[in-house]
Amino acid sequence: MHNAEEQVYSLSMQITATILHSTADKIESSHFWRMNYKTVHLQQRANTLIQTPGTDQRSVLVIYTGGTFGMVYDPQADQLIPFDFERVFERLPELHRLNLNITLITLAVILDSSNMKPAVWIELAHLIEANYEQYDSFVILHGTDTMAYTASALSFMLEGLNKPVLLTGAQLPIGVPRTDARENFITALEIAAEVDTAAVDAANVEMTGLSTVRQPLVSEVCIYFNSLLLRGNRSTKQESVQFNAFSSENYPHLATAGVSIDYNRPYIRPYQPDQTLRIRTELNPNVTILKLFPGITQPVVESILESPALRGVVLETFGAGNAPTDGWFLEALKRAIDRGILIINVSQCEGGRVTQGRYQTSKYLEQIGVVSGADITTEAAITKLMVLLGQELDRDPAAMSRLQKRLAQPMMGEMSE
Ligand code: ASP
Repeated sequence: MHNAEEQVYSLSMQITATILHSTADKIESSHFWRMNYKTVHLQQRANTLIQTPGTDQRSVLVIYTGGTFGMVYDPQADQLIPFDFERVFERLPELHRLNLNITLITLAVILDSSNMKPAVWIELAHLIEANYEQYDSFVILHGTDTMAYTASALSFMLEGLNKPVLLTGAQLPIGVPRTDARENFITALEIAAEVDTAAVDAANVEMTGLSTVRQPLVSEVCIYFNSLLLRGNRSTKQESVQFNAFSSENYPHLATAGVSIDYNRPYIRPYQPDQTLRIRTELNPNVTILKLFPGITQPVVESILESPALRGVVLETFGAGNAPTDGWFLEALKRAIDRGILIINVSQCEGGRVTQGRYQTSKYLEQIGVVSGADITTEAAITKLMVLLGQELDRDPAAMSRLQKRLAQPMMGEMSE
């Protein structure tokens, strides 16, 4: 065992989790039960570390969900296999040198993130809520394929968040020499632990030389990947081969990690000390994405929009939010809206924004009640629909207009006004 730390293995620590069930209209967490998570603690011995004056150790809860990050090469099988993640501290000895108390929880079922489901987002939200008071920050290790969906969903589900929740992963497994897992994980931990030094209580420092301020620099859901810190609900997976897997076309990077980590403070959500965490765990999965293309046919559009349980549609349009003006198309949309289906207009372009009414081809959409998504991503739009529709089950005109208003307004910095 490493000299500088005390490692405690408690492989079946019991923590509160939820049992999930889905109904036709929503997925919800209905009651609690005790679930065993594999848990490992890495507790640094303070006296062996270089301490930041006046600050005690920050604590971080790392939740491992799966993805490429945790794979190693098995020479016998000649393939990549998930490695025993509880041994991560042996594989990443650098973690011992961080001035952090780290606890690692492994989800019971390790997922390639292509298998990610709203039920797991609910489990993650409950895990964060159950551990919120004990930890200063949270890091979620997640596959890259659907990380932007999970980050968007959590941003809407964790209402009143004032601690960092950072998602990261890797393009190359941790067991490969050139892996990006190491840098992504270690820098995510550093950002998660970052205290806002500008908020230091000057008088206190003067008197004692110590600061008691423990306010985090970042207090929102983010993705950290390949040197960039991005707002989670502004991120998209843009690249499957190079290391720069994520982009945020319509919102500036929150930080860039080089020799030092440079924070773009004006764009980081301000810390709100009076907020209390409240999780939204009722999600409506009856939503879809309808991507337009020249030549899309009437039967295809109608079969999607007439799907019986459907409640929300992300309509992926051209350019600044434009769509065909064929009568059958607009009538199909109108019929859907009249049946209580929420439709949000999101551009197929990664950069720029929807401006409904700029062209005739989008003016009609506005007239029939399609909501403009402005510069929202598809990932944020679909998860926002799930969360809003989970909260409001009614379809009457008053409920529809409330939902349309909430959909059009920024909820967690996911779109510009
Ligand atoms: N298929 C993997 C996943 O998303 C890819 C990755 O992690 O990069 O889980």
